[in-house]
Amino acid sequence: MTTPTTYLDWNATAPTEPAAIAAMADAAAHWANPSSVHAGGRSARAALEAARRSVAGNLGVAADSIIFTSGATEALALALNQCRLKGRLVSAVEHDAVRANAGERSRVLGVDDDGVIDLAALDLILGECPEPALVAVMHANNETGVVQPLAAVAERVRAAGGALLADCVQTAGKLDLPDADFIAVSAHKLGGPPGVGALIARRLDLLHAAREGGGHERGYRAGTENLAGIAGFAAALAARADRGWLVQAARLRDRLEAGVRAIASDIAIAGAGADRLPTTSAIRLPGVPAATQLIALDLDGVCVSAGAACSSGRVRASHVLGAMGWNEAAAGETIRVSLGWTTGEDDIDRFLASYGRIARRRRSAA
Ligand code: PLP
Repeated sequence: MTTPTTYLDWNATAPTEPAAIAAMADAAAHWANPSSVHAGGRSARAALEAARRSVAGNLGVAADSIIFTSGATEALALALNQCRLKGRLVSAVEHDAVRANAGERSRVLGVDDDGVIDLAALDLILGECPEPALVAVMHANNETGVVQPLAAVAERVRAAGGALLADCVQTAGKLDLPDADFIAVSAHKLGGPPGVGALIARRLDLLHAAREGGGHERGYRAGTENLAGIAGFAAALAARADRGWLVQAARLRDRLEAGVRAIASDIAIAGAGADRLPTTSAIRLPGVPAATQLIALDLDGVCVSAGAACSSGRVRASHVLGAMGWNEAAAGETIRVSLGWTTGEDDIDRFLASYGRIARRRRSAA
């Protein structure tokens, strides 16, 4: 595998922290099943519970609210499929992991042109809901970085007898977690390995037990725990507990956005008027398909995404930009640039140099 020189695709996955790799290797020594009663099993159980306490401490949640899963996709599916509340209401900009599990009868909550939840529409829909609902609104969007007003959402949802499910995949380790009833997080976005995540369930009373399996995770999630992966998750969170890098990331993001505006005055940045994560820019260059931009940047050793990365490598029209009123053509000319803790000035320089060449070719082709 070639090592990318300028990696600006952190929202897809973050590089694995050396401390996480070491913790995974160490945990592999506890290879016994944490459910076994013999000494090896007890030692594996102790390592698992130590990792749970460490994740809880670093995320600021109660250890007994954590249900480890195979990632955020499973955590979101678990909440949506095992929550006793009958109604389902999901925002129009949720990740496919939510959309795929919301059910046919779910209602969709729109966003404004900046991608922010329409609170008046939420009031209206909650008032019309015949039964209390599980409401899924993500903390920050993976394509645009737009941060949702979750305190206001939670207040309204609870007043209507419902519960809030917050997808915090892009904010865990960057922002304080919101006051939500269920929270989904993923290890590989914060320096841990892929294939591990958690549902933080503050309302366990609202969850059915898992239908099948051997009663793991207090019966809510079946399957032998991925101890090495969970140890890597805990170590990554601990290693990146200092969020000081976000100040530098915000400055670099501002420099990047000012740079692309100077290169092409007709570019558009999705959600520019909203509160956004300091690590994400979704940038449209009119007249140049995202795939063309991606390939040109890749040839220059710069890694970015077109909207959301998708498992098949296919570039699809973005439902997120569509919900914000962007037509398919505009969404199809948009790339996502995302920054992380190792991003430096030279990465922004390289991106801007390559982007400038793309914009110049556009001008000469016109
Ligand atoms: N939710 C958001 C906002 C994401 O960005 C992702 C990953 O791309 C997921 C959910 C799914 O996470 P995982 O890869 O852990 O299943």
